Amino acid sequence: MDISEQLGVKAFDEVQSIICVQPHPDDNEVGAAGTIRQLAENGCRVCFVTVTDGRYGTRDSDVSPEVLIQKRRQEREQSGRYLGVNRQYELGFEDCGDYTERAVMQALLPILRLEKPEMVMTVDPWLPYEAHPDHYKTGRAVAAAVLASGHTFRPEAGPPHPMHQVAFYATSYPNTYNDITAYWEKKLTALLLHKSQFENEEWEGLSLYLADQAQKWYSQLQSIHNDYGAPHQGYAEAFKVLATQQLHFFPEALYS
Ligand SMILES: [Zn+2]
Repeated sequence: MDISEQLGVKAFDEVQSIICVQPHPDDNEVGAAGTIRQLAENGCRVCFVTVTDGRYGTRDSDVSPEVLIQKRRQEREQSGRYLGVNRQYELGFEDCGDYTERAVMQALLPILRLEKPEMVMTVDPWLPYEAHPDHYKTGRAVAAAVLASGHTFRPEAGPPHPMHQVAFYATSYPNTYNDITAYWEKKLTALLLHKSQFENEEWEGLSLYLADQAQKWYSQLQSIHNDYGAPHQGYAEAFKVLATQQLHFFPEALYS
């Protein structure tokens, strides 16, 4: 039994509106820029939510947190425009701060109920060895908010809005590979708009790593779908897509 099919999980090209929630101002691009641009070009409404201000995302101690917050905001807005993002929200939590997962979940709830997306995209908080608190707190808060949004919990945040599905990027358990061959260069362009993060001597190695990873995921895609013809090179992004029902009391979700 294909549980995703049973639960009505939609293919990406059928989804009309998404919210992409990122811990830091560039995570959506690293995990999913190709898919985001593709969806936006196909007419899907795309919103970004950025949980933290990214104030510590530098090794340069001469850059003040206030300056970096402003710089990263501009980079995020520029990259968002390039990708076709319709609206951006920032929650303003301190990068690496002591905020709670619950506080993020409660801040997300009114946005989900206002924007009414069909799908929410975020980092996979169940990535083994993920040690960054902003990442695991964000992913778990998003999953909790997606569950809560469909119920009458906190009516002051708006009427219930049930969502169809969640797509986690940066996952060790992908079940969906999206062909972004036509969007690979655009993904790199979007990443490089985050100059404070990627315009440095590490970019060459990082871009090679990302290309290698995307090519491996493309090979996975080819091995699953026989309509991809003879093996050839391409790029894909990988996601763990779960129906909302699979976010609670669903032991098989890991293997779905
Ligand atoms: Zn991050």
